[in-house]
Amino acid sequence: MRTVLVLGAGFGGLELATRLSGSPADELRIVVIDRNHSFTFGFAKLDILCRDVPPDAVRVPYARLAHPRIEFRQEEVTEIDPRTRRVRTDRSAYEPDILVVALGADYDPDATPGFVEDGHEYYSIDGARRLRDRLVGFDGGDVIVAVLGVPFKCPPAPYEGAMLLHEMFTRRGIGDRTRIQVVTPMASPIPVSPDTSEAIVDALTRRGIAYAPGRLVHALDPRRHVASTGTGDLPYDLFIGVPRHRVPAVVEASGLTEGGTDGWVAVDPHTLGTPYPGVYAIGDCADAPVPRAGVFAEDAARTAAAAIEAELRGAATPERYRGRGACHIEFGDGLVGKVDADFLSGPAPVAPFTPPSPELAREKAAAAEARLRRWFTG
Ligand SMILES: Cc1cc2nc3c(=O)[nH]c(=O)nc-3n(C[C@H](O)[C@H](O)[C@H](O)COP(=O)(O)OP(=O)(O)OC[C@H]3O[C@@H](n4cnc5c(N)ncnc54)[C@H](O)[C@@H]3O)c2cc1C
Repeated sequence: MRTVLVLGAGFGGLELATRLSGSPADELRIVVIDRNHSFTFGFAKLDILCRDVPPDAVRVPYARLAHPRIEFRQEEVTEIDPRTRRVRTDRSAYEPDILVVALGADYDPDATPGFVEDGHEYYSIDGARRLRDRLVGFDGGDVIVAVLGVPFKCPPAPYEGAMLLHEMFTRRGIGDRTRIQVVTPMASPIPVSPDTSEAIVDALTRRGIAYAPGRLVHALDPRRHVASTGTGDLPYDLFIGVPRHRVPAVVEASGLTEGGTDGWVAVDPHTLGTPYPGVYAIGDCADAPVPRAGVFAEDAARTAAAAIEAELRGAATPERYRGRGACHIEFGDGLVGKVDADFLSGPAPVAPFTPPSPELAREKAAAAEARLRRWFTG
């Protein structure tokens, strides 16, 4: 019996375990560890923030995992030794044949001085709920939605948040006394797709949402409610930030980040293998040449699953990672657009855009349902 240990039951970990569970190899044991008791889609935080959806309604308990070959353990990973593949958790220890690190990205709100004291975020479930509560008493003013560091999860999400907030303020009758501004260090919303960037900037402009690219907020002054940037201060009544992201501390302590860019896990971009035999890293924690998003974590999981099966059979690695994924983008008013990105198949990345429509809103919902069916019931 060979054991594959998957650390993290998010987008990447669930897809990888599902893929391996369909493996013809009978003698394969798949153990998946996550500290949480349930999975939540990243985009569900927008539903908590803007659509009054209670957090429990978007949590999918891992107890529902019904693949007979997947063993789920709710444990906290406390130590990873990539040389020996030994893993310690708060409850147990493991020494698998193959180790997959799919622990995602953590937030580092302290990296922006003043943000914890005077800022809000909707990138976590608790943050989205707190901001929703704050918005109940909000009666208009200057709202900043700022990207506080790159890379961050789901490049469209700051714009989705701004457009959904605009829709909410308009509905509540405070749109005319509220000014929203999106501030980002990036030069455009989706650099790989000029069409998508143009559609997003047009949509912001039509709503009167200001857009300040190439500008980084590096600190907040909680006393004066002012955000500092290299090119001047920005006053606000409500500051919403996408916190800086970092690799989880347990991954950093493991040494897996050595050789990776900016502290992320070094991987072979074609196989998602790390420099350590039998150790793979997929999704947001990995330094692969793709944005941080669930759809790319999922594609990485497909590649890694195929590589693991080949490794277990002693065969050659079948397919190279393509970095492909279709991202749905909320434009508000029930409309959803889509960008179909392919980063690594050709000589240069391609990412055509499909304009927003109600059909794509239905497609987004159906894609989420299909994932849950595949991951949880097979
Ligand atoms: C507001 C928002 C909107 C988004 N919208 C989209 C979208 O529309 N499309 C899209 O593709 N992506 C979207 N994303 C991004 C997407 O959620 C992530 O990129 C994706 O979840 C990454 O998958 P992953 O498997 O790498 O990590 P995750 O899904 O984050 O999974 C990591 C898992 O590891 C677990 N973990 C971490 N540390 C430990 C530990 N020490 N011990 C045990 N378990 C641990 C966590 O509990 C977690 O379950 C969005 C994100 C946000 C915040």
